[in-house]
Amino acid sequence: MSASFVTRFAPSPTGFLHRGHAFSALTAFAFARRKRGRFLLRIEDIDATRCRPEFEAAILEDLAWLGLEWEQPVRRQSEHMADYEAALETLRARGLIYRCFRTRKDLAEAALSAPHGPAEPFTGGPIHPNEEDRWLDEGKSFAWRLSIAAAREALGPAFHHLTFREEGEGPTGQHGKITARPELAGDVVLARKDVGVAYHLAVVVDDALQGVTHVVRGADLFEAAHTQRLLQALLDLPTQAYRHHRLLLDAGGRRFAKRDKAETLRDIRERGVTAEQLRAELGFAE
Ligand code: GLU
Repeated sequence: MSASFVTRFAPSPTGFLHRGHAFSALTAFAFARRKRGRFLLRIEDIDATRCRPEFEAAILEDLAWLGLEWEQPVRRQSEHMADYEAALETLRARGLIYRCFRTRKDLAEAALSAPHGPAEPFTGGPIHPNEEDRWLDEGKSFAWRLSIAAAREALGPAFHHLTFREEGEGPTGQHGKITARPELAGDVVLARKDVGVAYHLAVVVDDALQGVTHVVRGADLFEAAHTQRLLQALLDLPTQAYRHHRLLLDAGGRRFAKRDKAETLRDIRERGVTAEQLRAELGFAE
């Protein structure tokens, strides 16, 4: 089997899949078929507070109904915490992450009073060691954040020349060789006390460990590639080519979203729609 094209669909089991997920999964699957490559399924269940086993079971069932086939075993992130912890330790040993004790409420207030408005990225930096010791003694909760300042220092001029290849399209048509601008997202959270690893770190570690060559996913995650490219450089991991795809919109021009209670694949199935009909509706007729 060819290893020159390896892609994955990586849902989080925090709800039932809807048309937007089906479109994304079919897009990745179709690319893999066309390239005679490999298609992997990865369950991104690191956040035990939001993920539920019944959603995971439903994902497998819905994707099989849709006609997708994937390799076994399926990687479940919750079973690989040691891999993420090792990556975090590498970053910690090199002084690239720091503890941030600010609560979500602190951050929301700081964002509102920020000179450039709420969209300003967080770059708080570490607190004074004495204060840090005191807060740790008090058992105050914290998150590990990536330090953009430390990363810039560690990589030197190379920091400004990190690039990734966009073979699809970002939200405003970005395509081709893209210069990574991780500073735009700022000091992202890489781990929390209650959730041992956060999204960016887990994705970068997994894509490398699974030998993914092409990341196919929605254009809403285009910005994430900037941060993820930096993490790949800091952890000495290979980079992937990206194929961000347009987001599927509903009749009202809105993207499908769990929070808007978009019709789920199970609802669609219960209405008597066949997988073939749904595939055709989404542009994947045989
Ligand atoms: N788990 C992420 C999501 O469900 C996708 C991660 C990725 O494709 O990089 O939105």
